[in-house]
Amino acid sequence: MSALIEAQGLQKTFRARGRLVHAVNDVSLAVAPGEALGIVGESGCGKTTTARMLLRLEDPSAGRILFDGADITSLRGAALRPFRARAQLVFQNPFDALNPRFTIRRSLAEPLRNFGIPEAEHAARIDAVLNRVRLTPPEAWLDRRPHELSGGQLQRVVLARALIPGPSLIVADEPVSMLDVSVRAGILNLLREARDALGLAAIYISHDLALIRYVCERTLVMYLGRVVEEGPTTELIANPAHPYTRALVAAVPVPRVEQDRAALPIRGALSDAPPTGIGCAFRDRCPHAFARCADETPVARSLGGGRAVACHLGEAA
Ligand code: SF4
Repeated sequence: MSALIEAQGLQKTFRARGRLVHAVNDVSLAVAPGEALGIVGESGCGKTTTARMLLRLEDPSAGRILFDGADITSLRGAALRPFRARAQLVFQNPFDALNPRFTIRRSLAEPLRNFGIPEAEHAARIDAVLNRVRLTPPEAWLDRRPHELSGGQLQRVVLARALIPGPSLIVADEPVSMLDVSVRAGILNLLREARDALGLAAIYISHDLALIRYVCERTLVMYLGRVVEEGPTTELIANPAHPYTRALVAAVPVPRVEQDRAALPIRGALSDAPPTGIGCAFRDRCPHAFARCADETPVARSLGGGRAVACHLGEAA
């Protein structure tokens, strides 16, 4: 199936203390209609910047973004509006995402107005979307304001607001990390149901591999701005190929993972990594690093079955 959204060689660079930093370095990905892709990695790995570039909330320094086959990389202002209606972000923090002075009705009508949906359709659309996120009966919620809602209820409104323009793509950045554990599964299930019912593509950004495993068919692992491994989520977790992915898998309580967790320590933190440049950026933390890792930057190679890894281990010399 052809991709709904595709990124080719995305880069984001900025200057910090006189040197060029690659926040995102040569990231390529594609998501088909109805597919869910997870982007996972530690805080600072570039996953949120990648998502913001895909949504055209930040300009890439290099690379291309295609949506439905059209190049949207350089679109600006009104030319971006049709894309904005079709690619929606679910915010991480529902407590900040809604205007505290607006009723739920007004928060949901706002995007309809912004995207030129006729006023006569608003009430029916708002009703339908509140039913979809299980805030029922809708009339019981319409005149409430954010301070009258719990975190889980607020995130349902945030999800409703993302769904109401009728998008084809949802990007969810840590969609449940600010919520109480007891309501997280409910929100993830709602997202999954909405995807299935509406045929939406989805990109989930998270540091939590267990969450990604629950909702994504395919996963991309990022480390210091680069994709280090990608593949179908189940296989990637059951048999991770990159030492960093192994460490991520070992760090979370994922059932039935057939590996020796204690044997795969990584040292230090992201901030201890060597400056980006020649060599593997993970080498100072990698328990398997060898001489070549400092001299050559690993490039992605196919492992078959839709999997790829960027690591010198197992490469032909
Ligand atoms: Fe470790 Fe070398 Fe692979 Fe990097 S390239 S992950 S340092 S073995």
